[in-house]
Amino acid sequence: MLQHLCDSGSSSIVRRPYSVSANPPKPPKGKLSNSPGVILLGLLGIGGIAFLSFTQVVGRRQGQSVVPDAEKKPYRQAQTAFSPEEVTVIFVLGGPGAGKGTQCAKLVDKYNFVHLSAGDLLRAEQDREGSEYGQMIKDYIKEGNIVPMEVTIKLLENAMKESIKKDEKQESRFLIDGFPRKMDQAVKFDDSVVPAKKVLFLTCPESTLLERLLERGKTSGRADDNEESIKKRFKTFIDTSMPVVDEYRKQGKVIEVESVGKIDDIFEKICAGLDPVIS
Ligand code: UDP
Ligand code: MG
Repeated sequence: MLQHLCDSGSSSIVRRPYSVSANPPKPPKGKLSNSPGVILLGLLGIGGIAFLSFTQVVGRRQGQSVVPDAEKKPYRQAQTAFSPEEVTVIFVLGGPGAGKGTQCAKLVDKYNFVHLSAGDLLRAEQDREGSEYGQMIKDYIKEGNIVPMEVTIKLLENAMKESIKKDEKQESRFLIDGFPRKMDQAVKFDDSVVPAKKVLFLTCPESTLLERLLERGKTSGRADDNEESIKKRFKTFIDTSMPVVDEYRKQGKVIEVESVGKIDDIFEKICAGLDPVIS
């Protein structure tokens, strides 16, 4: 079955295409393209494009920008809850048991990050008296499934706002651990909260992860630290979360570190990757 969870060099990882369909359906042939009306529309279209290009060139020659000042802001910045100039977000990803929480605690000490664990926020919401999502979160976590993104993103956004309000800092740094685990979450967060600056990805063979989680399960009290739930979490990680890592890799945002060995040695490797991007 699944031999390695997040060792990116492993051939056992099933790489699924990020795009919805590798072979998009072909548009219907015939009919439309033969009609005289369509030919006329086509000619008008070409004329329009030529006119627009001409006005752009003229505009630039006269030293004017074709984009009005009000529209110059990057699209995302106008839409997000926080500005990437003021708020730095680093996502920390890796299979269950990869050591995200352990390394985040050390990073907080060194770089003055605020650490937010999506799993911890969900568990807190699950236990909050009167929460309308409590039972739903419980069921998703037990099954190793991903809680609908609206809930998790809202919890993260609220926690970020709360932290910024409390510290009254101009600039804030967040380590967001265990999120995003699904492509929809990644897109929504980057577009509506703030685009992540980097993604720290911790890799580890599945056998080591299983060992660590079973050990942790003896004392963690977590409903998902048992063999049955762990297996489901591994599968969710490979099927649903690895495409997120792959997408960020394409964007050149991933800092990948093998999280096997001594905690301090792993931390040193992480710092070597983060130092150049954290001033
Ligand atoms: N979870 C989720 N969405 C997230 C993060 C976590 O639904 O964005 C759920 C999911 O069921 C996951 C569980 O919370 O298996 C535990 O996550 P956590 O990060 O605490 O586990 P870890 O990987 O650290 O063992
Ligand atoms: Mg964790």
